[in-house]
Amino acid sequence: MKLIILIVVVLAVIVWLQRLKKNLGGNRFDRSASGGSASPNGAESTAASNSSPVEAMVACAHCGMHFPASEALTDASGTVFCSAEHRRLHSS
Ligand SMILES: [Zn+2]
Repeated sequence: MKLIILIVVVLAVIVWLQRLKKNLGGNRFDRSASGGSASPNGAESTAASNSSPVEAMVACAHCGMHFPASEALTDASGTVFCSAEHRRLHSS
């Protein structure tokens, strides 16, 4: 049963990466200008005791896709989105 969950998570990440590739044509890496809470290489010290590589998953409010919380984009009200594009579409 654990294996099934792992497969689902991996598939979700693969789908998300493919979507990310598509979105790179338009506005790329908008997240650096929005919030800036995530440092590029700062997640190493906190996860030393945890042997599991699986991190918390969140769902995009626009398309419902699940993806790692560290990749999430949020708007002013704290709603989570998978990409800047979906954040823009959801607010308009
Ligand atoms: Zn989305």
